[in-house]
Amino acid sequence: MAAKIRLYVDHPLDEGQAVPLSRDQAHYLFAVMRLGVGAEVLVFNGRSPEWRAEVAEAGKKGGVLLCRAQTKPLHPPPDLWLLFAPIKKARTDFIVEKAVEMGAARILPVQTDHTNAERIRPDRLRAHAVEAVEQCGGTYLPEVADLQKLSRLLDDWPQERQLMWCDEALVGAKATLEAAEPGPWAILIGPEGGFSEAEQTRLRAAVFVTPVSLGPRILRADTAAVAALALWQATLGDWR
Ligand code: SAH
Repeated sequence: MAAKIRLYVDHPLDEGQAVPLSRDQAHYLFAVMRLGVGAEVLVFNGRSPEWRAEVAEAGKKGGVLLCRAQTKPLHPPPDLWLLFAPIKKARTDFIVEKAVEMGAARILPVQTDHTNAERIRPDRLRAHAVEAVEQCGGTYLPEVADLQKLSRLLDDWPQERQLMWCDEALVGAKATLEAAEPGPWAILIGPEGGFSEAEQTRLRAAVFVTPVSLGPRILRADTAAVAALALWQATLGDWR
């Protein structure tokens, strides 16, 4: 039977390599999933191919896997960042999970003038990212950055990176990615309150910004994130 469980491990992977398991991973594999010595799982570390690994030691507080064979090459997503203003906890978790599935390379929570959530739990968001990549078959784990100010990020913006600004003021207008060139990109999604006048003025003036409409209805931020990622992937990314 094919190994089904996929596990992210922060450890080098290679032929015959022993991979120690954390307490949580051991609990999951041996107590929850009831695997024993000799069982097979898939492991990946976000920087090498995926491997089939065999349980060599199974304990209550830890265990060891042995890499047996490569099963999938590393497949990094396109160079796409997702910038979003964190909202309520469950919806922020949703955005991170969906961004991983949709193939964002980096996830950056940003504080905008109208951002409702002043604090986020990056460790919790990273745990969601790990769960999402294990589940969706991806081999690449996007970085989840700490919360930072949008204005600061724009001050230091890397000029070669283009920014797809999802601008709710363009609801229903024709503002697409039609003329956009592939390359390093970022998507920006605003908070429930939208962007402030000052932010709009600044974004409209920036040469690296392409303002985009997401259709004739105002979407909630979590919906907008998924829609924007799909639009970008289909036009410029790895859906083509
Ligand atoms: N309160 C705002 C809407 C915010 S929606 C208002 O009523 O105008 C949250 C975010 O989703 C927006 O900041 C924008 O980035 C994105 N968004 C939602 N619907 C959109 C649309 N039709 N076009 C472009 N961006 C949209």
